[in-house]
Amino acid sequence: MPGAGKSTQGNLLAKKLKVPYLSTGHIFRDIAKEHTQMGRSIKLVMNAGLLISDSKTLQIVSEYLKRREYQKGYILDGFPRTLGQAQKFKNGVDRVIYLKVSDKEILWRLAYRDDGGREDDTLLAIRKRIEVFHKFTDPVIDYYHRKGQLLEINGEHEIDDIQREILKHLKVHGK
Ligand code: AMP
Repeated sequence: MPGAGKSTQGNLLAKKLKVPYLSTGHIFRDIAKEHTQMGRSIKLVMNAGLLISDSKTLQIVSEYLKRREYQKGYILDGFPRTLGQAQKFKNGVDRVIYLKVSDKEILWRLAYRDDGGREDDTLLAIRKRIEVFHKFTDPVIDYYHRKGQLLEINGEHEIDDIQREILKHLKVHGK
């Protein structure tokens, strides 16, 4: 979910496991700043709280993952976000961590996010992002759950406690 703490936990985990961290949200926010046709169209989609197309997203992630620094592993943040992305993603994932946070808590967190404010943090866009999450990403969670790769973590605890919980579970499962 937007505002669930993906980037906080992803960065901590990447540091701990000594593998690079890659966030599609960050990549898209950077592209959205460019004064190009692609920059403008990505900005429009993001600010409406919608998802970038699967083909564009898959293309960008695959391009990044070809770089040398990603050859020994990676932490992906915010990807795969749709069933199409999950099924077509060639590099694959070992484990999927789902930081579970209620819709109400997400609304609260994003409406009062104090990291300088993001253009896609308007109330309308936040509501849309939550709706889009349930429509497109709930099935992804179900998909990885069925494959036995899902680790569901309560994202409504303190940052350190959540990280500890993640590490504990990754170890239990031998990773
Ligand atoms: P995030 O920071 O992960 O919440 O992502 C912010 C925005 O970037 C999302 O609301 C989408 O517009 C876009 N985005 C990020 N990751 C993806 C993805 N895997 N597929 C499509 N759009 C994405």
